[in-house]
Amino acid sequence: MSKPSPRLKQAIEVATKAHEGQLRKTGEPYIIHPLAVKKILEEWNMDEDSIIAGILHDTVEDTDLTLREIEDQFGLDVAFLVNGVTKLSKARSGMKDLDEYLPETGDNLLKLLIATGQDVRVLIIKLADRLHNLRTLSALPPEKQKKIARESLEVFAPLADRLQMGHVRVEIEETSFRYLDPRRFEFLENLTKERLKQADKKLKNAQHAVEDALKREKIDYECDGRVKSIYSLHKKLAKYNQDINRIYDLIALRFIVKDITTCYLVLGIIHSLFRPMEGRVKDYISLPKINGYQSLHTTVITPDKQIVEFQIRTHEMHEYAERGLAATFFYNEQKLTEAYAEGRVSKLPPQLHWIRELQETSAKLAKGEKVDTDKLKLNLFADKIFVRTPKGDIIDLPRGSMPLDFAYRLHSEIGATCTGAIVNGKMVSLNTKLKQGDIVEIITTKNQKPNPGWLDKVFSKHARSKLLSQLNAALPNFSAKKEPNPNQDLGKNKKKA
Ligand code: MN
Repeated sequence: MSKPSPRLKQAIEVATKAHEGQLRKTGEPYIIHPLAVKKILEEWNMDEDSIIAGILHDTVEDTDLTLREIEDQFGLDVAFLVNGVTKLSKARSGMKDLDEYLPETGDNLLKLLIATGQDVRVLIIKLADRLHNLRTLSALPPEKQKKIARESLEVFAPLADRLQMGHVRVEIEETSFRYLDPRRFEFLENLTKERLKQADKKLKNAQHAVEDALKREKIDYECDGRVKSIYSLHKKLAKYNQDINRIYDLIALRFIVKDITTCYLVLGIIHSLFRPMEGRVKDYISLPKINGYQSLHTTVITPDKQIVEFQIRTHEMHEYAERGLAATFFYNEQKLTEAYAEGRVSKLPPQLHWIRELQETSAKLAKGEKVDTDKLKLNLFADKIFVRTPKGDIIDLPRGSMPLDFAYRLHSEIGATCTGAIVNGKMVSLNTKLKQGDIVEIITTKNQKPNPGWLDKVFSKHARSKLLSQLNAALPNFSAKKEPNPNQDLGKNKKKA
């Protein structure tokens, strides 16, 4: 690790002085807590402003230090972040302020997301704060422990999931669940251990069989076993009548390989060795989960009569599933969303579009505009399809989108010059609704111009607004003219292609 920068050192000094004399419930000096938050944020590779804000996150609320002073010493960005974290903590559990804005939604996570949608780093700092509080929860009275554990499970674990921080989500869930229902936790923990012991030899046999085959094929791989977390086992058992024999993924063998092609190759090899169970092959590479998770899953029965789940993914997918959006990567992407909003870049990883939507929504809220939260929830969480470019890039679109939506998502110029679309290898008309997993190719011609008839052939707000501004620029009288021009009909253009 490199030496702390002068700003970081200064932040530690300022926080230490501000919290002087304060103690945590554990009896330790209070500064232990902000320093632990700092360490967590460093582990997540957050940018320096976030780390400094992490060090100072409790000062404005709990000490004499003011936001003004923070701004003078550390800049507006740090002050903004500290203010965001303080606002979240101030209203008890962070939701009270928002009830004024969004009285009708009971979805706390949604409120939290919107409150801070302007800068996702606020959420990440809050997550680090919560993680350390959970790790040191034993110092609190049992009633308080349960309250914090429940809130963590209901709000912060889903938040970590939205930010794709798999390992953080699991830690929050496991710790919280242990406090909420210690007896159940212990029972399931023992059950898992017992099962693991029973299956150990058979699992090793299966693993070795696959490893031998991969070596024969000269495929580089990493393999590890993953044991289902206690909390997700608890949730799954509730769905399966508490019958642990129906939980096939209690233990999974994970193979991590270099690229997507190799993932499918490994799947083929596994299926040639063992009999796959029907309906248990899941291709989350072509069709990622809504939080962006990617992997191939298959459950097989080995000759030892052991049921084993295999998970196959690339290193990149693995990193993403575990570490998610915190990391330098995340912050760069955060900047990327801004660049996207300003039209400086045209592509944004589909997993991150929700951040942009939050930014737009919170901007509306700030201006006092009304927000349709039902629609927002749909936009954020469900009403999406993922389609691909021929090169394999994943693009997310609202359900109901058509080829022009896709074209405008790639680039407004591609939209403007679109003369046709090929979906899954077949030429289709521009009013074809795209489906999950479609591979979409756009045909463009230089001389093509957008025409008003296209307004019926776009679905997404994004494409519609791009198209409208192009039409307005190209046809000065356009806004007056409501009827599409029949001479610029699409059928005619298509023949040209
Ligand atoms: Mn704190």
